[in-house]
Amino acid sequence: MTENLERISTIVRTQEILRKHDFTFKKKFGQNFLTDANILRKIVTAADITGANVLEIGPGIGSLTEYLLGDAAEVMAFEIDGTLVPILRETLAPYPNFQLVHADILKIALADYVKKFKNPELPLKVVANLPYYITTPILMHLIESGVPFAAFVVMMQKEVAERIAARPNTKVYGALSIAVQYYMTVELAFNVPRTVFVPAPRVDSAILKMTRLAQPAVAVSDDVWFFHVVKVAFAHRRKTLLNNFQLAFGAENKEKLLSALTEAEIEPVRRAESLTLQEFARLSDALLPLK
Ligand code: SAM
Repeated sequence: MTENLERISTIVRTQEILRKHDFTFKKKFGQNFLTDANILRKIVTAADITGANVLEIGPGIGSLTEYLLGDAAEVMAFEIDGTLVPILRETLAPYPNFQLVHADILKIALADYVKKFKNPELPLKVVANLPYYITTPILMHLIESGVPFAAFVVMMQKEVAERIAARPNTKVYGALSIAVQYYMTVELAFNVPRTVFVPAPRVDSAILKMTRLAQPAVAVSDDVWFFHVVKVAFAHRRKTLLNNFQLAFGAENKEKLLSALTEAEIEPVRRAESLTLQEFARLSDALLPLK
């Protein structure tokens, strides 16, 4: 940070920057900028990025980026809003370890970009205050990119964080919890009140820390089929597993479904929300003949 400048995230400096560039917030891009030094420090501490490369999604005017740049080896940030590009070029000018990419994160091949870090062999983490309207697509895009991210430390709507971190036999446990927990350990780091953003969002937020497992949490013969079985099992939350499977695979397959459930040692009257990842793994392998 340049010594005589206040941090970007202070209310005074944020307002100065917005005014100077005549910036108007775009709701469609989920723009809520952080203005709380305490929260920003807590995010950077939770992310533990010393000696790591960081990928940020949606730097905004650079509030979080500035804190990341202080600790990380390098930060590469992807911003969709072209009107923020000249602002970021100015606010983050003092940092030689910053790379800005003007792009929609969902439309780029991440593997091509991560090669452009000066030291691509360093551990790579994603740290971001995510645009809430596309949190889940972004997470799935990151996970499915094949890029070996060591961790994601990201802010999102509190309810979404709770769904991702959920355990079996809770109301919010579902296909999303399983999709993420298959690849990562998930930890709810801390909650963030809506008052620390400009403008304040209509929901509360949380920081979720997800750390990549050396191998998937459970072993399955076919992971695409595993995710399909999970999706089908949760299609109607109140229906039993057998009912959901009959709807998906056809009532004429009832006997085959019952024997797969028996093979996996799962009662047909159970509901998807009661199954652990291990049980889903057994079940998806037992259901393979129906593929
Ligand atoms: N990081 C800043 C902060 O904490 O103050 C801004 C966070 S704001 C919640 C989300 C940011 O993501 C905005 O700057 C928005 O323009 C950007 N954004 C929204 N959709 C995006 C997309 N598909 N790809 C890249 N950036 C996106």
